[in-house]
Amino acid sequence: MQNSPLSSDRLDRLARVAVQVGLNLQPGQDLVLTAPLASAPLVRRIAAEAYKAGAGLVTPLFADEEVTLARYRHGQDAAFDRAPDWLYRGMAEAYGAGAARMAIVGDNPMLLAGQDPGKVSRATRANATAYKPALEKIANFDINWTVLAWPGLAWAQQVFPDLPEAAAQEALADAIFAASRIDGDDPVADWAAHSARLAERSAWLNGHRFAALHFTGPGTDLTVGLADGHEWHGGASTARNGISCNPNLPTEEVFTTPHALRVDGHVSATKPLSHQGSLIEGIRVRFEAGRIVEAQASRGQEVLQKLIGTDEGARRLGEVALVPHSSPIAQSGLLFYNTLFDENAASHIALGQCYSKCFVGGAGLTPEQIAAQGGNSSLIHVDWMIGSGQVDVDGLTAGGDRVPVMRAGEWA
Ligand code: ZN
Ligand code: ZN
Repeated sequence: MQNSPLSSDRLDRLARVAVQVGLNLQPGQDLVLTAPLASAPLVRRIAAEAYKAGAGLVTPLFADEEVTLARYRHGQDAAFDRAPDWLYRGMAEAYGAGAARMAIVGDNPMLLAGQDPGKVSRATRANATAYKPALEKIANFDINWTVLAWPGLAWAQQVFPDLPEAAAQEALADAIFAASRIDGDDPVADWAAHSARLAERSAWLNGHRFAALHFTGPGTDLTVGLADGHEWHGGASTARNGISCNPNLPTEEVFTTPHALRVDGHVSATKPLSHQGSLIEGIRVRFEAGRIVEAQASRGQEVLQKLIGTDEGARRLGEVALVPHSSPIAQSGLLFYNTLFDENAASHIALGQCYSKCFVGGAGLTPEQIAAQGGNSSLIHVDWMIGSGQVDVDGLTAGGDRVPVMRAGEWA
């Protein structure tokens, strides 16, 4: 098994990067970990790395696709409005007491595609409501947290439909390990260098204080006004508990908050958008004063309309992110059907909720102040890709100067 993509050596490297780079877990700190049951070989290695790093208690919480499906097949209807509040209260309590949080993704992205959409949306809403107290501590960046991926079999078959099962899983494992930058001699040092490059780009963008970004490319001529007092972020960032961590493994983006009222022009998606079991392709959207006034898709038009109809904020932007076309994920040419990877393949914008940390002094701002500075709010946050090797980006200063930011998809 030594040369297999799922060999113990590579899993050990991923576990080490997850604990040391993703979390930067501190001696004595507890860890709450959620993971698909199939990822147990990785979880065991993460637990070992965590305890070696001095972890207090490591608590893994496993979920299983078959158990989820059993609920949809046989569960009583009334229970679809319920969620395990007790569990989420416990998670919130653990984070409140200083535990770090790790999430491993890797389930079948189309798991619920064939289920009753009414039940799916009721269960999703019940879960989101119950999870809110715990999610707020993550969203407010109270603690160090990270998300990484396990190459689940059904997910692998979605990404590589033409390969046999085992080959598909090995191909996805290869793609995940390459994108997660763990294949070098010293992955922890490679991550430090990568993170420093992202920090350098954020600092350059923050130094320019652009009023807007102008994207041009095939089917795209879009001006994205940036929020007042916006701040660019990328790579490692410091949680409110003072611990610097990398919330996403992999990560290639530098990102900030657009102004909810200052987006104009039209934009074409450069990749399909995988959303809750549906694929939306050929998205073309026109904005006026920050709001989507026209939206078309060559496939999944209804899903797109439903998405932007969620609430008023779903028609406006909450994030703009820059990713070079030379990023390893872009170069793989794959559609992962998973935001953790797909949003790191190309420059993107997100419909919906903005991040409070993407404002100068964001931690101290009230929701009203964030809104006054142009921050959008919504129940959704959905990223879609608008960058490619054919897209240019200019920064526009308040004084009307134009500074090249990206040319043909690369940093200018
Ligand atoms: Zn993003
Ligand atoms: Zn996003």
